[in-house]
Amino acid sequence: MSESKPNQPKPKRPRGRAQLLPGKCIACGARCESSCPVNCVSMNDAGEPIIDAEKCIGCLKCVKVCPASALEMVFTPEELALLAALDRSGTVQAAEEEDPEAAALAQMQAAYRGVWVFVEQEDGEAAKVSWELLGKGRELASKLGVELSAVVIGHQAEHLCREAFSYGATKAYLLDAAVYANYRTQSYLEAMCHLIEQYKPEVILMGATGMGRDLAGAVATKVGTGLTADCTGLDIDDKRNLMQTRPAFGGNIMATIMCDKYRPQMSTVRPHVMQMPEPLAGADGEIIKVHFSIPEEQVLAKVLEVIRDGDSKHKVDIGGAEFIISGGRGMMGPDNFALLKELADELGAVVGASRSAVDAGWMPHDRQVGQTGKTVRPKIYIACGISGAIQHLVGMQDADLIIAINRDKEAPIFEVAHYGIVGDLFQVVPELTRKIRELKKQGQGARGK
Ligand SMILES: Cc1cc2nc3c(=O)[nH]c(=O)nc-3n(C[C@H](O)[C@H](O)[C@H](O)COP(=O)(O)OP(=O)(O)OC[C@H]3O[C@@H](n4cnc5c(N)ncnc54)[C@H](O)[C@@H]3O)c2cc1C
Ligand code: SF4
Ligand code: SF4
Repeated sequence: MSESKPNQPKPKRPRGRAQLLPGKCIACGARCESSCPVNCVSMNDAGEPIIDAEKCIGCLKCVKVCPASALEMVFTPEELALLAALDRSGTVQAAEEEDPEAAALAQMQAAYRGVWVFVEQEDGEAAKVSWELLGKGRELASKLGVELSAVVIGHQAEHLCREAFSYGATKAYLLDAAVYANYRTQSYLEAMCHLIEQYKPEVILMGATGMGRDLAGAVATKVGTGLTADCTGLDIDDKRNLMQTRPAFGGNIMATIMCDKYRPQMSTVRPHVMQMPEPLAGADGEIIKVHFSIPEEQVLAKVLEVIRDGDSKHKVDIGGAEFIISGGRGMMGPDNFALLKELADELGAVVGASRSAVDAGWMPHDRQVGQTGKTVRPKIYIACGISGAIQHLVGMQDADLIIAINRDKEAPIFEVAHYGIVGDLFQVVPELTRKIRELKKQGQGARGK
């Protein structure tokens, strides 16, 4: 029979450390590495694991996942003696033991705190999506009870920290050096990874722009965490995890993705998906100047010349437009978009399109609204001859006012529209244009009197 003294802590059952059995690994593709919850397995050039015995918590995951039974648990002589003693006495029940994986996870999660927004900039001018993300970041930081910080990487970019304060950040990490003057993956990646290692944020948000997508993917890979791209919704659950919602399976369902075993949790969000917060003039915060940069000679990509898109000034930014009139397959052909253009000119709107219209070659891709086009948040959106497929709706349903013109009264677009006109767009649109011109004339006449 076993005896245990009443107030003495029960001895913990040793878990051992994982070890590779020589010659057994079949280099299956690093299943052991990806199963390890504490990142203590790395792979050598032969595709075999190298296990950091100091960090191993003996969770057995790698042993269980290995298809070649190439891993085993090893124990020190003291641990073996204790195991034998415990087995003899039977004092420790498995259910009573602390789960080492859960403990390691809780410890790791506790080490990461704070919400960060990467402030994307070009020539010292911030991308608006960064401010939109600060708006959302404030909400998340309040729920978590942590600080909201901006990350500014650039050259002579300190003013962006102050701008970030006006959009809700209370702290800004600033890496200011000539090597950061132009975005290059390598230098920005090193900078972000250095910051993460030093300050350990629990959430990082970036714009789903060319730069943001590139950097976020590289950072998530290097720090070994998860990344959810193109999120349309972000929230916090009761365990402090970030709930990242985005369309999945071709946009037919909305999936909520969690990264509950790794930190930081990273998301990208497209421009105009989150609401732009009102800037607060004079808001202040703390600037942490981080002196870290890699020598220019070590950056493999060189910027020889920056050639701006010559036409960019005249290009229509449908993403930022306040008034959009979009046409779909119901327009029946490219020439008929002239009808929408006429109406748009009268109203000061820009012309957008559904993917069907773009795929048919009737409109350029930069006018496409929807999941694989732009997300728009205009004050007014008029959908002409667009059925309202979910992939279109995710790109425009946050417009303040939606007006739909469609000859099919059952078209799904009417479910999101505030006003619907059931009719032939070839009659309705010219009539609208005529009426607006008439009203304008009357207005001018009245002012002339
Ligand atoms: C992965 C994936 C991504 C996608 N991404 C996008 C995206 O980013 N954006 C996007 O738009 N779609 C996207 N789609 C395509 C989407 O599923 C639909 O096929 C598309 O939106 C349909 O375009 P539409 O409404 O113009 O055409 P249709 O669905 O063919 O609708 C045409 C509408 O015009 C109406 N109509 C016809 N003639 C007239 C008339 N004379 N007057 C009034 N009404 C008329 C019809 O009643 C009908 O409702 C995506 C699909 C997939 C699978
Ligand atoms: S036993 Fe667990 S902690 Fe140790 S190497 Fe394997 S997976 Fe990692
Ligand atoms: S899981 Fe097993 S076979 Fe696969 S790499 Fe790891 S040790 Fe080798």
